[in-house]
Amino acid sequence: MRYISTRGEAPALGFEDVLLTGLATDGGLYVPESLPHFSLEEIRSWRGLSYSELAFKVMHPFVDDAIPAEDFRRMLDETYGVAFAHKAVAPLVQLDTNEWVMELFRGPTLAFKDFALQLLGRLLDYVLEKRKQHVVIMGATSGDTGSAAIEGCRRCEHVDIFILHPHERVSEVQRRQMTTVKGDNIHNIAVRGNFDDCQRMVKASFGDQSFLGGKTQLAAVNSINWARIMAQIVYYFHASLALGGPDRSMAFSVPTGNFGDIFAGYLAKKMGLPISQLVIATNRNDILHRFMSGNRYEQLNLEHTLSPSMDIMVSSNFERLLFDLHGRDGLAVKELLENAAKGPVSIEDYRWRHARKLFDSDAVDDEGTTDTIREVFDQNEYLLDPHTAIGVRAARNCRRDPAIPMITLGTAHPAKFPDAVLRSGVKAEPSLPVHMSDLFEREEQYTVLDNDLPAVQGFIAKHWKNT
Ligand SMILES: *Cc1c(COP(=O)(O)O)cnc(C)c1O
Repeated sequence: MRYISTRGEAPALGFEDVLLTGLATDGGLYVPESLPHFSLEEIRSWRGLSYSELAFKVMHPFVDDAIPAEDFRRMLDETYGVAFAHKAVAPLVQLDTNEWVMELFRGPTLAFKDFALQLLGRLLDYVLEKRKQHVVIMGATSGDTGSAAIEGCRRCEHVDIFILHPHERVSEVQRRQMTTVKGDNIHNIAVRGNFDDCQRMVKASFGDQSFLGGKTQLAAVNSINWARIMAQIVYYFHASLALGGPDRSMAFSVPTGNFGDIFAGYLAKKMGLPISQLVIATNRNDILHRFMSGNRYEQLNLEHTLSPSMDIMVSSNFERLLFDLHGRDGLAVKELLENAAKGPVSIEDYRWRHARKLFDSDAVDDEGTTDTIREVFDQNEYLLDPHTAIGVRAARNCRRDPAIPMITLGTAHPAKFPDAVLRSGVKAEPSLPVHMSDLFEREEQYTVLDNDLPAVQGFIAKHWKNT
């Protein structure tokens, strides 16, 4: 399998190189040159497979001969057979007739990002061992990505990981999930600044990596990394097969920030899974909902909401959809996004109409979020986290056919966001799962640094395992 850039100018790469690369050299994102397609008969034959076996069927065509099948199977068994605290890995919980939540928060850090990052850590270490290479992962986090990346890479021998978070601006649960993980390759940096400051330093470091002495390279763990999208395709097949697919069509509602998770659903559909509706659910940072409703793609100021993991100004993975909407014309995408950086843009009407056939959308504010947490608790005594609540609200608002199962992706455990649950007024407090109940007693380790690029780069240069 070859991968090409959404901006049309960077060289095509194989799976291994795509894994180790962040942005393409032309500023684009990598996508598969062509998608595998599965017949209904083939999908039907996957009924009853374990999550890990299903993951192999869905992902193997993307990995292809880059990793021998038996090694890839072992990696998937380790990821989905061991690291998740629920035997079903992605259990479905029923809310109403034909309405479901797929719980994607049973992994080590209680958010869906574990599905991809638990695998990504293992893939990276495998490829680096083979190549006798070492990489430094540098990432900025406002919450969930940092902890999932640290958990995913803690056992990697060929990876040092440096995660920047804004000092005193992440929740205590989120900070402790990062800073209590032990390992001499794990480094948490609390920056005296905000999330944007952290992200700016990461971007600058990717742009000029000379502070690493030219001996190693930086690798990306955010959702511009293709392997993350790939791993997320699997659970759409998993949910469908559990509820009578592929002989019934399914609808999915997806709490969306960077458009990674829902893009995986779009790919599942293109690969042959019958999906009749995909709902983009956003919070008040609703650039995608505004685009879907009015063909105007415009960055507005960032709003802080009760669903912080969806607080974004632009959705980086949306570029992957724009590439398809433009008939995979990379230069058209490049021009569009260069213009979008300067002001509002639109796409040709027939392209936009096509996008509206593919997706429905909704934006839910904080009040709608807490109302939904309360509504579902009153109906089912089931606690939603604020991100999942937005998904459920959008599912209920956008649903077209009650005979089709509507599945909301449950992206985080409610104990990660106790404030939103408290604000909803329900008389229940979310508690951490037993395997994490001692989180507040565990010892923390992190370094506080000034909002200063040379200080941060100096710290990394001194602490990565320069072997
Ligand atoms: C990251 C995240 C999202 C958004 O996912 P995208 O792939 O960026 O759209 C939604 N909910 C939670 C809890 C998250 O951590």
